[in-house]
Amino acid sequence: MTNFSQDSYALRRDLAYGCRILGNNGHNDTVLGHVSYREPGADTYWMKPAEMGLDEVTPETFIRLDLDGNVVEGKLPRHIEFPIHSEILRAHPEITCVVHTHPIYSIAFAALDQPLRALSHEGGQLSPPDVPRFTLTSNLIRSRELGEKLEECIGNRPACLLQGHGIVTSGTTIQGAILTAINLERACNIQLLASACGPITWSSDEDALAKQIEMTAAKAQLNVWNYYCRKINAAMNASF
Ligand SMILES: [Zn+2]
Repeated sequence: MTNFSQDSYALRRDLAYGCRILGNNGHNDTVLGHVSYREPGADTYWMKPAEMGLDEVTPETFIRLDLDGNVVEGKLPRHIEFPIHSEILRAHPEITCVVHTHPIYSIAFAALDQPLRALSHEGGQLSPPDVPRFTLTSNLIRSRELGEKLEECIGNRPACLLQGHGIVTSGTTIQGAILTAINLERACNIQLLASACGPITWSSDEDALAKQIEMTAAKAQLNVWNYYCRKINAAMNASF
């Protein structure tokens, strides 16, 4: 495997945990789905390679790309949808981590003509306002132009549903972007269950917005992240 600099090990380790956490929590879709990370404002970023499942990633498997998609470090193949990452990172210097996956409840929910509501803690972290929906195409985001259109749709929101395709989340930390992806999938799952049984009710905007502040606090996110990392370590009977 490629010998990367030891300086980048800590971030590649966190990114590997992030991939495996997604893989273990409803985001696995064979070898599809990807996560990226860069130092704040950097013009290159680390990305999960293609031809490998989220749950197979290790700190040694990442590749590093520039914003035009050229591989500048690493030997493994690149995902064709790198413009999702490069255009969000290019437009938002403060964002460090981008997630794109194909989770089933989010895809099913995005097919409904129904806003995401604060039915649960997870829903309350993402709505109000409603999560943006990218409807221009359900095909792969393989060009800079489509990446820019997707970025325009997302704006400053932490999550987006790609109708007929999957989700995108981003954040200023790996933990924030990963947990947002997990929360979005759970929120969609819960709303699908409730909607299938009858008319739904949801928290007031005031109630949901208060929960957003509490549940996205750094300490609260760290506690959840550490729990997920312990589960990964237990499954591997090892740690990165
Ligand atoms: Zn995709």
